[in-house]
Amino acid sequence: MNSLQSFDYAGKRVLLRCDLNVPIKDGVITDDGRIRASLPTIQYLVSQGAAVIITAHLGRPKGERKAELSLAPVAHRLGDLLDMKVTFSQEIIGSIEAKNVKAGEVVLIENIRYEGAETSKDESERTTLAKELAAYADIFISDGFGAVHRKHASVYDVAKLLPHAPGYLVAAEIDVLKKLTQNPQRPYGVVLGGSKVSDKIGVIENLLDKVNVMAIGGGMLFTFLAAQGYEIGKSLVEVDLIPTVKELMARAEKLSVTLLLPTDIVVAPAFAADATPTIVGADSIPADQMGLDIGPVSAAAFAAAIVECKTVFWNGPMGVFEFPNFAVGTKVVAQALTQVTGISVVGGGDSAAAVRKLGFADSDFGYISTGGGASLEYLEGKELPGISVLA
Ligand code: AMP
Repeated sequence: MNSLQSFDYAGKRVLLRCDLNVPIKDGVITDDGRIRASLPTIQYLVSQGAAVIITAHLGRPKGERKAELSLAPVAHRLGDLLDMKVTFSQEIIGSIEAKNVKAGEVVLIENIRYEGAETSKDESERTTLAKELAAYADIFISDGFGAVHRKHASVYDVAKLLPHAPGYLVAAEIDVLKKLTQNPQRPYGVVLGGSKVSDKIGVIENLLDKVNVMAIGGGMLFTFLAAQGYEIGKSLVEVDLIPTVKELMARAEKLSVTLLLPTDIVVAPAFAADATPTIVGADSIPADQMGLDIGPVSAAAFAAAIVECKTVFWNGPMGVFEFPNFAVGTKVVAQALTQVTGISVVGGGDSAAAVRKLGFADSDFGYISTGGGASLEYLEGKELPGISVLA
């Protein structure tokens, strides 16, 4: 595989795929972590005299121009962070700005997913779009880690048409993920949360025989409690996955993996910021209440296990961190991760946004991954098309 330094960029035109898929509320970017993570590669290319044409997506416009999913505010923020002019091109195909970009200049093209061909299952449709993108440039640099698990035109097909290499971000993400899967330092702990167990089953299955400790929080923990026959009240549950969860619990025991499940839960009568929180035992959730966070005893137990580990991967909040009354579990776990002396990795857009919202700095953690889906698929042992194509 080439590296970013494999090419001489002077006078060359570079098509750069970035992940600029940031949360935007009423036209305001609420977390610019992914834009910041894209800066080193852009700055390197500019410093080497390349003309840089950036392609990226925002949300899921499904082939339609939706004003609220325009990358225009991102172009603005990118310019501010780079401290240089970033030209925004509303046109995706036939962009005059992309054709005219000069050495040392940066153009950001509008949301690539406005083009239905970007995400098409039909390879020939994707290739047609990829050819349009490839025509802008001499070299393709893939740095949009959050999209590398997708066989999309600007991620996958275009790499077949131009000399290519991963950018700094993609290279760094892969490096970290390798540390989590190949010979991790032990003890190795994985902390999983978030709303759905179905999103995490693949990761649990693939990592169970590689870890020493697996801690489960978030909405997904109630499927584990239900699998043990406990009353879970109105909590989130995926009933169809109870048999799978039972099998996983039995497998964990056989492998002598410590499966940490909460022993106390913060419950409330409704899913609301002002709902009254009560702490109950995990085996005594009242029928008219729902679990919205792990309890303090469990949070302390999770934290104690985490700080002992030399490698930790965390994906998914422990509770409804958006409501301060139910954010304590997530905060305690995040705090423990900052104390890990080995490698601590926060995976996923949501978890990254959660730790920033709770007041932690990126530098408090060993590594904050920009790609939730991509890192989870890697940890599930799946091939990432946007990475394989760079080989
Ligand atoms: P995910 O999208 O799967 O990463 O999950 C993140 C979401 O899970 C956050 O928005 C949390 O509010 C939510 N969440 C965490 N714990 C719970 C819970 N106990 N009940 C409902 N939602 C939860």
